[in-house]
Amino acid sequence: MADITIPAELLPADGRFGCGPSKVRSEQLADLAAAASILGTSHRQAPVKQLVGRVRAGISELFRLPEGYEVVLGNGGSTAFWDVAAAGLITRRSAHLDFGEFGSKFVASASAPWLETPHVVQTPGGTRGSLELVDGVDVYAYPHNETSTGVSAPVRRFGTAPDALTVVDATSAAGGIDFDVAETDVYYFAPQKNFAGDGGLWIALMSPAAIERAYSIAATDRYIPPFLSLTAAIDNSRLDQTLNTPALSTLVLLDSQLRWMNASGGLAWAAGRTAESSTHLYDWATAHALATPYVADPAHRSPVVVTIDFDESVDAARLAAVLRANGIVDTEPYRKLGRNQLRIATFVAVEPDDVRQLTRSIDYVLEALAS
Ligand SMILES: *Cc1c(COP(=O)(O)O)cnc(C)c1O
Repeated sequence: MADITIPAELLPADGRFGCGPSKVRSEQLADLAAAASILGTSHRQAPVKQLVGRVRAGISELFRLPEGYEVVLGNGGSTAFWDVAAAGLITRRSAHLDFGEFGSKFVASASAPWLETPHVVQTPGGTRGSLELVDGVDVYAYPHNETSTGVSAPVRRFGTAPDALTVVDATSAAGGIDFDVAETDVYYFAPQKNFAGDGGLWIALMSPAAIERAYSIAATDRYIPPFLSLTAAIDNSRLDQTLNTPALSTLVLLDSQLRWMNASGGLAWAAGRTAESSTHLYDWATAHALATPYVADPAHRSPVVVTIDFDESVDAARLAAVLRANGIVDTEPYRKLGRNQLRIATFVAVEPDDVRQLTRSIDYVLEALAS
């Protein structure tokens, strides 16, 4: 097998297209170096608390946070938040849209022994269903963007009862898709996708109803492990702190990205940028004889995670391997999906020009593989 070398003029300037962690911009790394004196200092002292305060304010600004909503953060990433929600946000029973790996992981957490069996609307990869009002359900949950398949859902209350909460996993969507926060009670995410930070934190935009729910469950005799206590996270966040030691570099990278996004035009600007990149890829795949967007319904296609199926005459794993050897990395599909596919992140940090170069590079490799 001869090596395939993509000509330099076709290569993207930055070859990182992974869906998490995402590309980190060099400007963020410069900000990290400039913040060096804060690393290795106490998270209970003013400099770090001011950093956490800036992050919370930057998030409030970006998401145009409605009156009474609060920015809450804690350690452990979005995966930890599923268990936080099972312990301290679901009173009796939850309902879920499950259309991929991440949606189903929350179902697993919400299937805790102290809760009733969740109501689940499950659909095959590449599609999604809809939620209806279900009696006895007090949390309605779904991913804003299913990172394993590249399907996104609109952020809205799916016919929920007035006292039920809408809880949205926005890990890969947050900061890359515009929406109205008032349509959710909890919009949670982690910084390693559109915010181009490192993993390890969870962040939740919480409505007054969600905050009240957390305190009312904490007041019952339910056992809540201290690390999973949502009220401890709320109490600490109000003081610009976390329960235990956070990774300071993650906060610095996040702060840098937030300042860039807010100065550039906020969420509408960011959504325009991800739409430009993803539309280019979907148009390319639609026009290509050997490629097709995996998500059949254009209304369900994600603007931040683009999945492209290839004709059986193309070995997509080999294609991804050739790209990797040329410095274009992490275009492999979600491992458990098992498709002849590439998956490409079009997060805010990714340059639309680099996405255009990416399709030129793929065209070159496809021709070389065919000859
Ligand atoms: C990446 C991702 C997660 C997991 O995030 P961690 O911070 O690694 O726990 C959860 N949900 C979605 C939709 C994701 O894309």
